[in-house]
Amino acid sequence: MAPERGSVLGLDAATEVRLRQESPFLWVNPGRRPLAEVRDALAVTRADIEGAADRLARFAPLLAGLFPELAPAGGVIESGLLPVPRFAARLKRQGLPAGDAVYLKADHALPVAGSVKARGGFHAVLCVAERLALAAGLLAGPGDDYCKLAGQPARALFAGHTLSVGSTGNLGLSVGIMGRALGFGVTVHMSAEARAWKKKKLRSLGATVVEHPGDYTAACSVAREEAAASATTHFIDDENSLDLFLGYAVAGLRLPARLAALGLAVAPERPLCLHLPCGVGGAPGGIALGARLALGDGVLAFFAEPTQAPSMLLGLASGRHDAASVAQLGLSGRTLADGLAVARPSRFVGRLMQPIVDGVFTVTDAAMVASVAALWRDEGLRLEASAAASAAGPHLVRAAGLPRLAGRDATHILWATGGSLLPEADFADVLAQAGREAGGEPAG
Ligand SMILES: *Cc1c(COP(=O)(O)O)cnc(C)c1O
Repeated sequence: MAPERGSVLGLDAATEVRLRQESPFLWVNPGRRPLAEVRDALAVTRADIEGAADRLARFAPLLAGLFPELAPAGGVIESGLLPVPRFAARLKRQGLPAGDAVYLKADHALPVAGSVKARGGFHAVLCVAERLALAAGLLAGPGDDYCKLAGQPARALFAGHTLSVGSTGNLGLSVGIMGRALGFGVTVHMSAEARAWKKKKLRSLGATVVEHPGDYTAACSVAREEAAASATTHFIDDENSLDLFLGYAVAGLRLPARLAALGLAVAPERPLCLHLPCGVGGAPGGIALGARLALGDGVLAFFAEPTQAPSMLLGLASGRHDAASVAQLGLSGRTLADGLAVARPSRFVGRLMQPIVDGVFTVTDAAMVASVAALWRDEGLRLEASAAASAAGPHLVRAAGLPRLAGRDATHILWATGGSLLPEADFADVLAQAGREAGGEPAG
């Protein structure tokens, strides 16, 4: 039953063995290219991403009205770039070069959605709302007052439409929160990994949650088929949505301002390593592309995946992208990192990432849990397991001895993709598990 090594899957033998053994490692992407060589051929341009940033800006006054917590920032949904001195010292005690700097991008604390999905998921919902409102004549054009969309005529329009989405948890949450706030019907198809509290929260918002016993791809296909049969159902396709991707990518364009505020320079001589938790690839892919377009080739992007669900690694390394499933490696796809628990990458993101991403690394559940505990103890940060996958990056990347980093001090950004909405009891469970496992893993 096991496919022959290197032949059926299209992987080199060493990569296939490491994936099958579920041992954490960094796969270095031989397809990575300087931006100047590939920029004009990319399926997504800087102008496309700026279009998404403009859309988020048009909607900001409306969002500030819908969500009081956004009022202070004028409806702009952003997070801080934080120094993590105690955690950085821990990594250095464990061997990270003394000259490297470590920061954490606090998307786990993004207002309203509590995860990286606040940019992508919200943007995808706002695209649907804008299209419908323009078509119905409720908005005259992009210069109109978008606060009108909180009024009765717009709510009546949106109430006649349903947003549908397949989700391992956080995407459903972001689509549910924004969709319901605008008055849409929302149906979320959840895979087996989805946490109970996410389903409960969605139901409390008035969304319909459909639970699927199978994996993420299966939940998505059901949702896709249902939506295709209805003119008033809008499917937000995590495995193939450009609108989602562009929303995520806005974070990359915003990065230079965040770095400048901290006095951090980026150049090939002072490389910036982004460590990005990866599920289907939309969030890390968007951030990586946006950051490389905004900051150039001094940016190195690394994706983090569970050892049980290395879907992007498999897709890129085999060149088979969404045609390859981690099940073909004998992996279960089961992981505590619910946000990363996908068997196949996005149809278009994998191909788009071929020249963009520097590498993909895998992380065990035990290591993620240990990092959750360490970041809590050291920095008081509340992350979910998926977000903490990023913390394994600096060591693995340094251990790989990449020529682009040799002899240079690097800045590492751990992209913390979710966690602040985690209920106390769920967070306590993760910490308790870390306590039980300490000893085997470097929980500190
Ligand atoms: C969705 C998610 C990711 C990964 O995003 P993809 O677009 O699926 O690659 C990472 N971390 C968390 C917490 C998420 O919810």
